[in-house]
Amino acid sequence: MKKIAVVGAGPGGLAAAMMLAAKGYEVDVYEKQNYVGGRNASLSLGSYTFDIGPTFLSMPHIMEEIFRAADRNVHDYMELIELSPMYELQFDGKRVPMYRDRRKMLRVLREHFPGNEAGYQRFMKDTREKMDALLPVLQTRHHRLTDYVSKRTLKALPKLSLGKSVYDVLSEYFNDEKLKIAFTFQAKYLGMSPWECPGAFAILSYMEHEYGVFHPKGGVNQLSKAMAKVTEEHGGRIHLGDGVKKFKLDGNKVVGLEMESGKQIEADEFIVNADFAEAMSHMLDDGVLKKYSKEKLDKKKFSCSTFMIYLGVDKLYDMPHHTIVFAEDYQKNVKEMTKDLVLSDEPSIYVHNASVTDETLAPEGHSAVYILAPVPNNYSEIDWDEKQEAFKELILDEIEKKTGFSDLREHIVEEKVLTPKQWQTEHFVHKGATFSLGHQLSQMMYFRPHNRFQELEHCWLVGGGTHPGSGLPTILESARITTGWIQEKEAQTT
Ligand SMILES: Cc1cc2nc3c(=O)[nH]c(=O)nc-3n(C[C@H](O)[C@H](O)[C@H](O)COP(=O)(O)OP(=O)(O)OC[C@H]3O[C@@H](n4cnc5c(N)ncnc54)[C@H](O)[C@@H]3O)c2cc1C
Repeated sequence: MKKIAVVGAGPGGLAAAMMLAAKGYEVDVYEKQNYVGGRNASLSLGSYTFDIGPTFLSMPHIMEEIFRAADRNVHDYMELIELSPMYELQFDGKRVPMYRDRRKMLRVLREHFPGNEAGYQRFMKDTREKMDALLPVLQTRHHRLTDYVSKRTLKALPKLSLGKSVYDVLSEYFNDEKLKIAFTFQAKYLGMSPWECPGAFAILSYMEHEYGVFHPKGGVNQLSKAMAKVTEEHGGRIHLGDGVKKFKLDGNKVVGLEMESGKQIEADEFIVNADFAEAMSHMLDDGVLKKYSKEKLDKKKFSCSTFMIYLGVDKLYDMPHHTIVFAEDYQKNVKEMTKDLVLSDEPSIYVHNASVTDETLAPEGHSAVYILAPVPNNYSEIDWDEKQEAFKELILDEIEKKTGFSDLREHIVEEKVLTPKQWQTEHFVHKGATFSLGHQLSQMMYFRPHNRFQELEHCWLVGGGTHPGSGLPTILESARITTGWIQEKEAQTT
């Protein structure tokens, strides 16, 4: 069987490694950090455990299928807890829980947004049809423009809401501005504005309302840890603290890796999970790439970034697992973050209070609180060394003022802040754009870097920077597309 080298042990790389190792390939994963999971790793501060990045897990059936493809049952590796409510939204002091359960959701609508119940039912029905048409397109490789005239894509085209934003689409169902936000803020998962994000992504809120939101005991990072375990069970090797410096090329064929340690690695196929733009602008000499040269990458659109605060606190707050606090002028906040590239005076904030569900994350009576504020990526040139402290205090002020975490500062035992600058310098994320390349239609499907990378031979992509895009379910799909294609290529050449 062929030798596969995977660059990066993020969820995309690990899903690919696990599925190929299960098929008997000789798999080696090279990870620059000394831990697995990438943005989906865990972070320990004293006796507190946090997810570094993803905290929302949806569409668990995709994860189940990926593990099945590696001859495993995901439930033997992770304990999944469904959250109800899925999350709580806060608008100007109003607390609105959101449920997967239809009856509970209708009750919330009747109480907070009367007259919108039928719109919600219609949204769920229409978007189910949209999802049925779109899912096969997302699960298929897109390496030829002619794919756009395939039967599958033509069937999906009318469902893409072309020319409309997610906000436009939801305006067809709801008459209340806050309710529209409640079903469009998910554009932020792609690091985009609901007023800019393609209308097709109305499927994001549908996915939560249809399939639910889950918390794996120990955190969403357990997904990466489980995939690393399965990889090793199938004989794959994961090399930690072993960063890749350069691709070794013969013409446009990748033939090896030059490691930061000076070691040279050979393999038959190379799968890149490291952040696409960062990898392509650092691991190749200038002039090698045409379509994705440094200059061309700089002209692409990238997602926003996130300002993170991880707090170990000696108190357990009776607050929901997920709370999202919207700025009063949400549209202005989103524009400042994605267009004007300045810090908002009133940011929107997400608070993850997982200890209310999971006692393994902190000592008894304590909690691990994760706070995220979406902010501009590093194209903004914000001086984070100068701004970090004041912005952190602003966020804590807002949380204490607007939520049930009213005495948060008094209870802090451990603290870590992660700025967009650090996403770039310590986590190797291009321009700190935490959700990778933007998901504008001009950068989707055929127009996103292909799973079989079009500019280099023997080079494959997985993760948020390739098709179908950022977000754990789509990242797992990217690994499924890529590994299926590698096996198909091998079958054709043997
Ligand atoms: C704050 C935040 C919150 C998020 N929340 C959610 C959420 O709730 N739900 C959701 O579905 N998605 C979420 N995401 C998006 C996405 O699911 C994660 O970012 C995910 O971890 C991306 O996975 P990936 O496989 O693309 O790459 P990564 O996780 O970035 O992994 C890439 C790996 O490559 C390694 N690497 C880089 N350079 C090298 C090198 N030279 N040599 C070797 N290794 C290298 C990195 O160290 C890293 O381990 C979130 C992202 C962030 C940042």
